[in-house]
Amino acid sequence: MISVSEALDALFALANPLNIETVPLSDAAGRVLAVSAVAEREQPPFPASAMDGYALNSAGAVTGAIYQVVGESAAGHGYNASVPTGACVRIFTGAPVPEGCDRIIIQEDVERSGDTITLKDNLDPKYYVRAKGFDFACGQTFDAPKLLGPNDVALLAAMNVPQVQVFRKPTVALISTGDELVMPGETSNPDQIIASNTFGLAAMLREIGAEVRVLPIARDNLQSLEQAFYLAEGADVVVTIGGASVGDHDLVAQAAEKHGIQRQFYKVAMRPGKPLMAGQLGDAMMIGLPGNPVSAMVCGKIFLTPIIRALQGLPKESAPKLRAKLSHPIAQNGGREHYMRAVYENGLVRVFERQDSALLSVLAASNALIVRAPQATALEAGAEVDVIPL
Ligand code: AMP
Ligand code: MG
Repeated sequence: MISVSEALDALFALANPLNIETVPLSDAAGRVLAVSAVAEREQPPFPASAMDGYALNSAGAVTGAIYQVVGESAAGHGYNASVPTGACVRIFTGAPVPEGCDRIIIQEDVERSGDTITLKDNLDPKYYVRAKGFDFACGQTFDAPKLLGPNDVALLAAMNVPQVQVFRKPTVALISTGDELVMPGETSNPDQIIASNTFGLAAMLREIGAEVRVLPIARDNLQSLEQAFYLAEGADVVVTIGGASVGDHDLVAQAAEKHGIQRQFYKVAMRPGKPLMAGQLGDAMMIGLPGNPVSAMVCGKIFLTPIIRALQGLPKESAPKLRAKLSHPIAQNGGREHYMRAVYENGLVRVFERQDSALLSVLAASNALIVRAPQATALEAGAEVDVIPL
């Protein structure tokens, strides 16, 4: 049995970034930028007003000073002449500050009468001019690799970048296995249960950028499993669920062997999730997850998420952890790394009493896993532990 970090390293060794493709900016959110983008213009491209008011020259702008209003500068319609001393221009937010002016007097600070203004008492001392290039300069880079979120897309748009080069989305073929499984909504006989993992994992994978193909449920015989592996061809990652322990009906390993898998490992020293298998299957990575619903979801978080990120060119890093204090004592850990379902709130973490790997209701009530190293000693309330937010 290997450790979680050894298993993850073995998977990372197989997970090289996929090809690069070009997408319009409107499709870029959620994708990983593969090639740094460059600003094609500066922002703002002219000194811009940050307020509604009057643009004038700051020399002599004191309480009581009187100015002639000679024109207007609005957003998209600047005032295209120089403003002489003693004159000002009515200006609006986002409009170009005319030549000869370096300060905006906010409209609340003037008394206007016809075409003249008088500056009031207690003038706001700020100038309210955003310099040319205040946000970014022309030629400034937006560095890859980066998972693009809404704020990034807004910045790239402002940089006048209409399309970006991103890593291809990994395709994942998801195969549930088991004679007992039916799909939600299907009528089942009393011996059957619903294929829940399939839905949970598909949602998890889609959320991190994978293109998921949910294949028909494979039954517990070699023929059905082999057929599933044929259907999975062309995917970057083949994920099986269940059938990976040593029971008589656990045939995934055998079917994968027949399909030519080069196995990397089988069994990881973790709880939940021991019967985890991985290897190279043709051009794809194959990961065999345990069938117990919580095991499958925890292994998805610990192994699939970092792999899908790595395939998209992001750094090869394990699920991010933070430190939190226990709100109660916990017992010594056994020989496997334990990922305990827990609730994390205001810096404190509380572990659920029921940790059976079949309990989806407990998993759904959790917002974190605490990570216990093999043989970790018992801990008192207030002790710090590693926490993986869910
Ligand atoms: P196995 O590894 O096939 O022995 O499965 C272990 C347990 O997980 C059994 O109780 C299965 O019924 C259950 N299981 C396997 N696959 C799924 C699935 N896709 N959804 C829900 N439960 C499953
Ligand atoms: Mg099974």
